[in-house]
Amino acid sequence: MRYISTRGTAPVLSFEDAMLSGLARDGGLYVPESWPRLNAAQIAGFAGQSYEDVAFQVMRPFIGDTFTDAEFQDLITKAYASFGHSARCPLVQLAPNHFVLELFHGPTLAFKDVAMQLIGQMFQHALSRAGRRVAIVGATSGDTGSAAIEAFQNLDAVDVFIMYPHGRVSEVQRRQMTTPSAANVHALAVDGDFDDCQARLKDMFNDLEFRDRVGLAGVNSINWARVLAQVVYYFTSAVALGAPHRSVSFTVPTGNFGDIFAGYVAQRMGLPIERLVIATNQNDILHRTLQTGDHTKGAVVPSISPSMDIQVSSNFERLLFDVYDREAAAVTQLMTALRDEGGFTLSQGALTRLREGFASGRVSEAETSAQIAATLKATGVLLCPHSAVGVRIAEDQVQTATPMITLATAHPAKFPDAVEAATGVRPALPDRMGDLFDRPERLTRLPNDLAALQAYVTKHLP
Ligand SMILES: *Cc1c(COP(=O)(O)O)cnc(C)c1O
Repeated sequence: MRYISTRGTAPVLSFEDAMLSGLARDGGLYVPESWPRLNAAQIAGFAGQSYEDVAFQVMRPFIGDTFTDAEFQDLITKAYASFGHSARCPLVQLAPNHFVLELFHGPTLAFKDVAMQLIGQMFQHALSRAGRRVAIVGATSGDTGSAAIEAFQNLDAVDVFIMYPHGRVSEVQRRQMTTPSAANVHALAVDGDFDDCQARLKDMFNDLEFRDRVGLAGVNSINWARVLAQVVYYFTSAVALGAPHRSVSFTVPTGNFGDIFAGYVAQRMGLPIERLVIATNQNDILHRTLQTGDHTKGAVVPSISPSMDIQVSSNFERLLFDVYDREAAAVTQLMTALRDEGGFTLSQGALTRLREGFASGRVSEAETSAQIAATLKATGVLLCPHSAVGVRIAEDQVQTATPMITLATAHPAKFPDAVEAATGVRPALPDRMGDLFDRPERLTRLPNDLAALQAYVTKHLP
């Protein structure tokens, strides 16, 4: 399988090179040249298999000869050994025909671990084999950074620099980034919001001299390998509820559009997904886009679901690429307008195609809190605020014919203040996180300034 850029002018790469480089050199995102298909018999065969075995079969067509089968199986096994649940991503029923898929049993309690734990293994294997070393720089609204630091700490082929918006992540998120003591990880508190952090990251990738000099690599959700790892749980959960013999729908709390794009990939691969529902908080650019075709950036408004406080949804570019018939020139024009004019309007044809597979909804802060309380009362399940946004929207979409699966993207204990305010119950951290609040923190505060951030990275490479 070869990988092409959504902007059409970057070199075509193997899986290994697409994974190690992250953003394409023309500013675009890598996507597979074509979508591999699994037939119904193959999908039906996943029933009853372990998460790891399904993961191998779903991802195998995408990785080419980057790893042998035995190597790839071994990397998958190591990646998920740290999970606190033997099913890895278990399903829990909330109501007739409505289920939540718990994606938070990894080491940092959010779904980002599912991909990041595997990427850590794949990076280490590919780099050490090549005798190479890279500088991973990431921007995070909280969960990606902690997952990356957890996955890459102490690996000897990488240094990790994570930029997060100062004062805008939860205390658990911050401590997960600032308490690991490995010398190869750096938590950078930037004076700005998440979109600023993400913009500086893109600036670093677009500074080709800097990029080559430091061996820059990205593990944000723009990295194709992350999207790929997330495709797996769409298959395991859908098959558990009867796919491919019946269709399922998914509701996905959405920020950067990585997680829900993985659902779209599963659908393209042949999984019968009827609907993918985009759930947003008050930062609702994607909901507005689906309703009106107008994709205009607003200002980011902080919320109790901070991992979705985003106005620039990077992975949406990958969907636009398909919706515009893989015309790189059309995508480039849209993305240029987004950067220079703050937005664009979808063509009528593109909007119609988008609405064929996707629906959307927006949830206010008050509705999010009310949903956490209502779900606790009705089911005994405590949701994190992001998952509650999803459940709120999914409830309006549940149909008798098709099971609805809402992705529970984080553990409630990762956002204890919001959960306690909504329910009066303070969710406890799982035992394995034990002493998080007692460990010393280590971070560097930096301005929202490209030169200052680049200087820090350069100075802290070995
Ligand atoms: C990252 C994250 C999201 C948003 O996922 P995207 O892939 O960016 O759309 C939602 N909820 C939680 C808890 C997250 O960490």
